Formats: sequence, structure tokens, C-alpha cells
Amino acid sequence: MGSPGITIIGAGFAGLCMAIKLKDAGYHDFTILEKAGDLGGTWRDNTYPGCACDVPSPLYSFSFELNPGWSRLFSPQSEIWDYLRACVEAYDLLPHLRLGTEVRELEYDDERAVWRVSTAGGETFETNAVVSGVGALHVPSFPDIPGRDRFTGAAFHSAQWDHSCDLTGKRVAVIGTGASAVQFVPAVAERAGRLTVFQRTAPWIQPKPDVAIPEGMRRALQVPGAARALRGAVYWLLETRAVGFAIDPRLMAVHRQVAERHLAKQVADPELRAKLTPDYTIGCKRILLSSDYYPALTRDDVELVTDRVTEIRERSIVDAAGREHETDVIVYGTGFRVVDALTDQRITGRGGIKIQDAWRDGVEAYLGVSTAGFPNLFFLLGPNTGLGHSSVVFMIEAQVRYVLECLRLLSRTRARALDVRPGAQRAYNDRLQRRLERLVWSEGGCTSWYLDQHGRNRSLWPGFTFEYWARTRKVKPEAYELIAAPPGRG
Ligand code: NAP
Repeated sequence: MGSPGITIIGAGFAGLCMAIKLKDAGYHDFTILEKAGDLGGTWRDNTYPGCACDVPSPLYSFSFELNPGWSRLFSPQSEIWDYLRACVEAYDLLPHLRLGTEVRELEYDDERAVWRVSTAGGETFETNAVVSGVGALHVPSFPDIPGRDRFTGAAFHSAQWDHSCDLTGKRVAVIGTGASAVQFVPAVAERAGRLTVFQRTAPWIQPKPDVAIPEGMRRALQVPGAARALRGAVYWLLETRAVGFAIDPRLMAVHRQVAERHLAKQVADPELRAKLTPDYTIGCKRILLSSDYYPALTRDDVELVTDRVTEIRERSIVDAAGREHETDVIVYGTGFRVVDALTDQRITGRGGIKIQDAWRDGVEAYLGVSTAGFPNLFFLLGPNTGLGHSSVVFMIEAQVRYVLECLRLLSRTRARALDVRPGAQRAYNDRLQRRLERLVWSEGGCTSWYLDQHGRNRSLWPGFTFEYWARTRKVKPEAYELIAAPPGRG
């Protein structure tokens, strides 16, 4: 591999957006490194039955590449994956893409002001800037349940679905009831002979207003301006959902009513309904959308167990009430290792500082993009830029534009690299954390992957997305230290 000017890590929504916008801006000297054998990120990895987006597709797509062809309002995984592949083709990104190339280590060279990138295949090369688009949700998390390794049947995680495992007629156990599980449980219930769902915490669920987009409507969306108008409408509709999140948890009451009504309508049995009623403020964990999850749980061949799983045996699962559930297949819908995934990375910045040391007190970045001590390393969907109410593709686009502004600042000033000033990062994050402390994710009486081990929210943006958009429109040069080019290097 040569020495690309810019190295992008990851070929999901984030990495591809960066690549497209670099090309648009006239930068062609970049490479996208992707550890897997194909592009697509989340939408390549998650192939579980029922996998779809819970954000409407007109907004869960690039603003500059609207797709009037979505078959449904909430597109299935395969269509989103196809969409990303179509983007790669439309913007001719294949020549820039290195699949099956896992980044092992990033090391900043203070003398030469470049990053040294080492891959798992043993290659090493230098690059001026690195854009990390690795995403937060891709390292499967398995529960620490005694005996898990003793199980002799098939067992897999939702993000590593074993399609060779035929569930027809089998006794299937699902552990976890998060955003993934509520999507695949109805499909599994159709197939399995018997399904047992182990729930630790009841999720809040609202109806999913999913509809097929008829052919006529798809044609209408090709009229100039129509797809954009639909996107705008969806954007503002979802932004109204941010009110309770961003301002005061008490404003979540409307969401609660919608969810309670949904549960009451779909589950008649009071005992089951009680088990499914959450005990924390809605929004504290992700609000799930599903219109077929509750009905699946009311089937005669499906059981919801709320006693904790205490042990897994060769062919069964034991719960805290001492009941042993015979099981042929276990599906783990237990989510991802989020904060660890970031800190597991081998990144060494200025003066030999390791990212783990820089983040000893918590994972943080300035605007979620830059971390002091790591010049020209840009994170997409980095700390505190996830969302609970709208599309992260919107956030990615804002960040990509911001990175381009940083690159323009470098060109203008003929500097070699920029490093966010620790003071700017501190002030930004102190303000952010003060704001987050009184919001629903911290105040709502739940634990979630949004919070780190100290209970601090390191994942989500606390406000409206237009606020983030506005704050990332321009780079404040005073927030950065500009590092000059070493003598003799332009
Ligand atoms: P998740 O939301 O983290 O849910 C994990 C589930 O597993 C929770 O119900 C959790 O219970 C349970 N669990 C974890 N460890 C357990 C243990 N030791 N024993 C028993 N239960 C355990 O994971 P996910 O459903 O894969 O979703 C992760 C994220 O991916 C979502 O928050 C969302 O951002 C994203 N996602 C998005 C979509 C979409 O359509 N856009 C779809 C799927 C996922 P507790 O609640 O008690 O921890």
C-alpha cells in the first residue's frame, strides 16, 4: 500500500460519507481500510431475521443521495446495505477501498507529524490524517452467565446470526430484549417450536408506523424536490421527539402515554402486561418501535421469563426461580461492548500518550470529533454524538463537513496538523456533562450502554440535532494548536 494522504477506517455509513465528501472537495489521495470482507458496517453485520432500521429511511440516508426507491418507510437491512453499495458505485469509491484490512495500531510520529498505520496483515505506512469511522456498536457482548460454554446446542449473537441453523420446530431461547431482539423475536416465534424470551429489564415500546411505499408514491418521490420535502418533514417530526430528551424528563410523559396505550392494546393478559411494564422513565434506554413484538409474546408457544438467568447447562437454561428451561438454540440479543470497544484501540498520540491514558477519566472529544494529544485524528460518531431520537446519518454528515473544514484550515495556514487544545476540550465536555446530568439518561432510573462505569453518559448528544449542526459548521481556529510542517516537508 502507498502512503495515502488521508486514511479512513471503516466502510460503513460514516467512512463512506467521509470518502464521498473528500472526493467532492477535490481530495483524491485517500484510502478506506475495512477489516471485513465487504462494506456496509452495521448493515453488513446484522442480518438477523426482521432486521430493519427504526429510523425512517428518508432520513436514514445521505441528504445528498436521496433514494426515492425505498420499499418501506422503515427499510429492511438488505435495502440499506444495497443503498450503501450503490453509493460506492455512484461515487466510484471502489479504487479507494481496501477490504479485509484491519487496522492494528495507529502511532503518531512527533518529528514528522504523520501517523504510522499498522495493519493486522503486517503492513505499515504513513498518512497525514486519520478519520475513524469504526462505529460504536460492533463488538458483540455476551453475558457473563455461569456455564455458558457448557451449552452443547447452537448458540449465537444477533449480530452474528447463524443462518445455517434451522430454527424450525426447535426450542429456542432468546436472552435480551433490546432494539435487536424486538425485531427478531417475532420472526423467531414464527419458526420455533417453542420460544422462551429472557427479559432482564422491560423496554418501553411504541408502535412502529411502518408502511410499504407504493409504486405510485415512489414515482412521485422522483419529482424534483419531493424526496427532499419528505426528508424535511421526517426530520422536523423526529426533532419534536427531542423535546423531552433535551429539555426536561418530565416532558417524556407524552411518550409514556403512547407506549402504555400500545401495551394495553396489544396485551390483554394483566400478568403478562405487568411483566412488560418498565419501571424507569421512558427514554432512559432507547425507546423501541415495534408493532409485532408484543403480539409475538402473547402466542401460546412463546413464554416471557423475567426471573434472572442464573446458569446455562448442556441443554438448558436455569432461572433464579430454579426452573430449568430445555433449550436447543440460544440467541444472544445482549447488545454490544460500547465503551470498551473504543478504549481497546491501540492508538498512541503525541509524546507517546496512549488513548487509554488520555481517556482515563472518561471517553471524550471536542465536538465528539477531536481528542487532545491526537493531532489530525478525527472520530466520526465519536463520544457523545449518538442519538436517541433521530438519525445518526445526520450527525455523520455534520461531522464530515467539520473534518473538511479542519482540513481547509490546515491548507489555509499551511500547517501540518491540528491538535485540539486541552482547555477547549475540557470546557466543551464540562458543559456537556453538566447538561447531561439532569437529563433522562442519567435521571431516568435505569442503566444502559449510554453510561460508562461512573454513570456518565459518554454516548449521546444531549440536544436537538440542529444545535450540533450549527456548532460544527465552522472550526474555531483558537480551539486548536496548529503544528507546523517539519523543515523540508510541505
Ligand atoms: P441493547 O439495546 O444493548 O440490548 C441488550 C439486551 O440484552 C437488553 O435487553 C439487556 O438487558 C440484555 N442483556 C444484556 N446483558 C444481559 C445479561 N447478562 N443477562 C440478561 N440480559 C442481558 O442491544 P441491541 O438490542 O443489540 O441494540 C443495541 C443498539 O443498537 C441499540 O440501542 C440501537 O442503538 C442499535 N440498534 C438499532 C436498530 C435500528 O433499527 N436502528 C436496531 C437494533 C439495534 P438490560 O436492559 O437489563 O441491560
